[in-house]
Amino acid sequence: MDTAAPAADIAQGLESLARGYRILAMNGHTEGTLGHLSWRDPEGRGLWMKCQEIGLDEVEPGDLHLIGWDGKVLDGSNGHRHSEWVIHSETYKAREDVHSVGHTHPTYAVLFSATKEKLVGVGHNGSYFSDVKIFDKTLALIRTDEDAAAMAADLGDQWAVLLRNHGVTFCGTSIEHCVLMGIMVEKACYEQLFMKSSGYEWSGKIRTGLKDEASLYPRLITNLWNYHNRKLDRFEGRR
Ligand SMILES: [Zn+2]
Repeated sequence: MDTAAPAADIAQGLESLARGYRILAMNGHTEGTLGHLSWRDPEGRGLWMKCQEIGLDEVEPGDLHLIGWDGKVLDGSNGHRHSEWVIHSETYKAREDVHSVGHTHPTYAVLFSATKEKLVGVGHNGSYFSDVKIFDKTLALIRTDEDAAAMAADLGDQWAVLLRNHGVTFCGTSIEHCVLMGIMVEKACYEQLFMKSSGYEWSGKIRTGLKDEASLYPRLITNLWNYHNRKLDRFEGRR
């Protein structure tokens, strides 16, 4: 295992990845030590993600390791590799545009995944997900290339796919984008579950005929990412 210090751009990416984990934790994605967020290695060697031993809220750059496309841990933390790492590798293989993948078991996504409902969105949070499928080939952890590839097929060209009675997989063109998609898909599930249980008459969005207004343009991604980082610093007492 190569223990040399990572190159500067890799080190910066790993710092963002570690903070992405903790921002997801702050937004309801923690379930013990389960769940993971990855970053496609910019040098093409594989993907970076946390080791198995710690929770999302505890991740520092030194807890991340590089997993090669064949599953071997090549660099970074000596902790155990997550068995569900194939969720990440198969998503990267299926989606060239994706550079970060998250898989977690947040409460509202898990609840929504057990329904026969379609995620249509109540407000803007749902507007980023036009055709989210519920993967149901298995209800168990996804540990084989075959199951992970089937999940990636259900993800299609979307930013999220729900996993029945299990959780959610989300992705983005960058770590920042992916983390925001994770926060928003969980909120979208919450909003729709809450609306459905409110007793009000509701059957999805009323179509205006206009294009959906909610789009995550680059400056908005930067603004929201910076906001969540400032909030994280306040939460962790760093300022
Ligand atoms: Zn899982």
